[in-house]
Amino acid sequence: MRLENKVAIITGGASGIGRATVHKFVREGARVLVADINLEQAEKVVAEVTAAGFEGAAAAAQVDVSSYAEVEAMVARAVEVFGGLDVIFNNAGIAGGKPLLEHDPEVDYAPMIRIDQDGVYHGILAAGRQFRDQGRGGVIINTSSIYGEQAAELAFSYSAAKAAVISFTRSAAYELAEYGVRAVAITPGRVGTPIINQFSEELRQTFASEQMRGALTEPEEIANVVAFLASDEANVINGTVVHVDDGYSSFKKRLE
Ligand code: NAD
Repeated sequence: MRLENKVAIITGGASGIGRATVHKFVREGARVLVADINLEQAEKVVAEVTAAGFEGAAAAAQVDVSSYAEVEAMVARAVEVFGGLDVIFNNAGIAGGKPLLEHDPEVDYAPMIRIDQDGVYHGILAAGRQFRDQGRGGVIINTSSIYGEQAAELAFSYSAAKAAVISFTRSAAYELAEYGVRAVAITPGRVGTPIINQFSEELRQTFASEQMRGALTEPEEIANVVAFLASDEANVINGTVVHVDDGYSSFKKRLE
């Protein structure tokens, strides 16, 4: 019960890493607002939580994180339903891309920046204001990516947004420390979620082979780390990046 009495918002909570984290947080004693652009899926996750025996521990909210007004309303909703806010997991995101010289800026750059970058900024700002006003601290966890620290194929805009997420995390930790708020970024490697499942089997095999265990990471394995980072046990982890990439960023595997 690491998260007993904590209230959390998980954006992108309807699927993949977010969904697995909703389940983990609830099992650790938290109450969770499952916030996603896909309300129907978010409601399904709430129903799963209820079916698992945690009735009332989760509620759904529709949000487009690219809108600050909607993110502000999402924070207000968590406070209204659960009486406060202790943790925000800014995790909603989209992936994909084209070679740079084939870009249409309005299609291949702007939406990625609005969702993966601005969405995290909006979450930090709205939750930060709530944490300040409550006066009982708070934790911000932001989903970056291994691509936030390196260039990669078809990832020009994605890498830019995910690099900004790391920078936001450091600055948020710095600016909000006086309110007892911590901020941490995670950089998943290749996790078996719908974002990855959109790619061919061959590419998925390549992704898996580049990780230490030769397999895609399970979303539940990321959720375990997020729950730890959100808990008071992680009080000295602040303003930094936690690599949850099965070794990917630390070595180059030898080609067979
Ligand atoms: P996913 O597609 O399963 O989940 C993403 C969720 O975000 C979906 O439920 C989607 O509806 C929601 N979403 C998309 N746009 C939104 C918006 N504008 N407002 C609110 N919600 C929105 O994918 P996932 O793999 O669980 O991805 C979660 C995060 O992890 C993303 O930020 C992604 O970039 C990051 N990530 C994933 C991997 C991976 O290998 N799967 C690796 C590194 C980083």
